[in-house]
Amino acid sequence: MSIPDLPPPLKRLGQNFLIDPNIVRKIVALAELSPSDHVLEIGPGRGVLTEMLSHAAGHVTAIELDPRLHAYLETRQAEFPNVELICDDALAYPVERLPLGTVVVANLPYYISTPLLFRLLDQRGRFPRMVLMLQNEVADRLVAQPGGLDYGVLSVMAQYAADITKSFRVSAQCFRPRPDVGSAVVLLRTNEDRRLGLQEEVAFRALVKAAFAHRRKTIVNSLRDEGYSQEHIVKALTQLGLSQTARAETFFLDYFIELSRLISVESKGAG
Ligand code: SAM
Repeated sequence: MSIPDLPPPLKRLGQNFLIDPNIVRKIVALAELSPSDHVLEIGPGRGVLTEMLSHAAGHVTAIELDPRLHAYLETRQAEFPNVELICDDALAYPVERLPLGTVVVANLPYYISTPLLFRLLDQRGRFPRMVLMLQNEVADRLVAQPGGLDYGVLSVMAQYAADITKSFRVSAQCFRPRPDVGSAVVLLRTNEDRRLGLQEEVAFRALVKAAFAHRRKTIVNSLRDEGYSQEHIVKALTQLGLSQTARAETFFLDYFIELSRLISVESKGAG
């Protein structure tokens, strides 16, 4: 088989390839892999991270959307026989088929990093930890604490599902082509125990979204404008000893969880 030339990068697929082996080593070290580990890599691209993962782990599932890169990687399959190459959209791929305990390690395509992250966090029982390269701004939002502009739905929902550390920043010089935005690597250790039941989680997610829907308004007004009963919100806030004039961006994760529980109980009582 003849080896295809490296295809030129496609900006629309977020193709900014790592060229700095030190960064690749740091990412793999952060994942603390052992030869018994199964790894999911999203977007193997030209295989620079894939190759190192194949040495550190027992098995790697690598999902690449671009058929040109998939074909290129197939020509290199002999170099990493424990890598299963899959040509698919990671947003559509049934990740629930991967074994329990799979570690996710990826330099994500930034244009879909948030939906991918939510998809992975939804299946967090399967993924004990994830080491992800993201746009720096997204990394900041993931670790943001109440009180700042970065704090929002992404922060609350991700911190509900995982303990998150922003591990290190990565300069644009470490990629070809260089991205227009800053990058950072985050480590997510997912929470094993679910603090809310599955149904309750649906209500919690809806509440958090509604609370931040009108950031300049108080949480009472934002929730009311999104269809929640003002009476129930005020009652729940009072029970929790929280101010009615506070905005969602000042609310800790635990407040949202308790508020969601109380409002669900109130609504059921009313219905
Ligand atoms: N892992 C390589 C590296 O570090 O050099 C490439 C990372 S690059 C930032 C993102 C990769 O994700 C590209 O190879 C791109 O083609 C791939 N990709 C983009 N959208 C995808 C999707 N929906 N599913 C799977 N892979 C995707």
